[in-house]
Amino acid sequence: MAVFKHNNIVYGPEERPIPAHLSFGQFVFDKLKNAGDNIAQICAETGESVTYRTILQNSVNLAVALQKLGLKKGDVVALSSENRFEFTVASLAIIYCGGVLSTLNVTYSSGEISHIFGITKPKFIFTSPITAQNMYDCSQDLPHVEKIILFGEYDVIPAIFYNDLVKKHVNVDDFELVDVNGVDDTVAVMCSSGTTGLPKGVMLTHVNFLTLCAHMKYYLETSQERKNHKVLSGLSLIPWFHAYGFITSFAVMCLNIKIVFLVRFDEEQFLETIQKYKINMTTIVPPLAVFLAKHPLVPKYDLTSLNEVWCGAAPLSKEIQAAVSKRTGIGFIRQGYGLTEVTMACCVDLTNGEKMGSCGTPAPGMRIKVLDTETNAKLGPGKEGEIWIKSPLGMKGYMGDKASSDALVDKEGYIRTGDIGYYDDEGYFYIVDRLKELIKYKGFQVAPAELEALLLRHAGVADCGVVGRPDEAVGELPVAFVVLQPGVELSADEIVAYVASKVSPAKHLRGGVIFVEEIPKNPSGKILRRELRKMLSIKLNSK
Ligand code: AMP
Repeated sequence: MAVFKHNNIVYGPEERPIPAHLSFGQFVFDKLKNAGDNIAQICAETGESVTYRTILQNSVNLAVALQKLGLKKGDVVALSSENRFEFTVASLAIIYCGGVLSTLNVTYSSGEISHIFGITKPKFIFTSPITAQNMYDCSQDLPHVEKIILFGEYDVIPAIFYNDLVKKHVNVDDFELVDVNGVDDTVAVMCSSGTTGLPKGVMLTHVNFLTLCAHMKYYLETSQERKNHKVLSGLSLIPWFHAYGFITSFAVMCLNIKIVFLVRFDEEQFLETIQKYKINMTTIVPPLAVFLAKHPLVPKYDLTSLNEVWCGAAPLSKEIQAAVSKRTGIGFIRQGYGLTEVTMACCVDLTNGEKMGSCGTPAPGMRIKVLDTETNAKLGPGKEGEIWIKSPLGMKGYMGDKASSDALVDKEGYIRTGDIGYYDDEGYFYIVDRLKELIKYKGFQVAPAELEALLLRHAGVADCGVVGRPDEAVGELPVAFVVLQPGVELSADEIVAYVASKVSPAKHLRGGVIFVEEIPKNPSGKILRRELRKMLSIKLNSK
């Protein structure tokens, strides 16, 4: 993909048009209306399917019911659920009403849910039975939570049933969506810890989502044209509560591509589904690429219908990229790079494998600069520095945290990524390291500051620092360096168990605990993570 470079800034191609109404809800509503009785989604677990018309009808019914319950423009609605039909319908209904959707990971502990509720202050909560008890418990003392709406059936908590709300038929042609100012109005708040500190609420606007959908269309059309194939079906396996899963599943649905989704990841079901439904496209994370490259089950299935496999959320090595192509016959895995703060996809590799290891060129309308981390000078090709991005995909800010939002953007409007990388002479980007604190386990964010704060609450811990231990299968494993209080006896297993009892599984200390005398810090008390990583590498190499 030829890109334009000027003054050490790499430009993506011309921005794609988005609808003039600037409403993501209206955009999806119109797409659903046009697609009519075609099948939109199939659940891989049950084989059940829904048409675009059913999604449209149910989302309109639900939107009217929510308005009757008091939902107003700008109100936040939390949603915590595994992938299921109701997830899509509820998200749309909230958005049609001008509401702000806040998705929460279903494995979140009470502490994690309360942290997000503290930021977003939801008025309504949608939940599925698997997380209902936790959501209910966490909302009990919160005066802003007015209603809990439950998917499926579960009579342990007092709640309104989703099934009752969608029952009342509304004439779709009589329904009017709440008007929004798409440049400023937030459509969703998604979780990310950014470059430092605790998880925050990333506010994404209607224009952010519309732009991403326009980009996805452009990527897919360009790719299909080049490779001369068609994408008719997609497999969605990334949880929709994560920004990557959410936005890609909506964007693909709006392209009239039938989506088969996994409720939860299961190795055999993943492979079986591709074979059974002759899936053409899927989006994955690097641990799944490792699975495809190495797992003994993989050769037992015919995966050759797959002609678009997109991989993002963490680094994908060119060795794994090559191994998957060689082993599965599914051709080339496209690597993409992005972050929640920039509505996910910032770069996508649209070649046919000529640039293995690269995450591609900038998205349409995007400008990327690489700054020297010491001098802040804009760097030319082949020089590593921090990546900064400016584009219509840039977030509105962190909810209720102006200081962190301001700290992320420079005077020219570029967002700091906290990632280290470089571009080659043709404007292809390569991510080589991470400057920010973030750890990524299977593509999920783990904020070291969150685990450090938790460890420090333990009476036996005097000081600590958390970093990621590189692991090919999952990306990184959180490791804690711990200084014990004098005279305290605490085992590594006890510390691992303590953390596991307080946070969701992605954040468990799977990399272990290392006891030390002191945590290396700079004069102002900031943990020197680079030093901790060095200490870890010495320890691992001495084994
Ligand atoms: P999230 O907001 O959860 O998607 O996390 C964003 C972060 O994931 C980025 O800032 C990177 O550190 C990392 N990331 C995403 N895609 C890639 C990639 N292709 N290569 C390396 N790191 C990536």
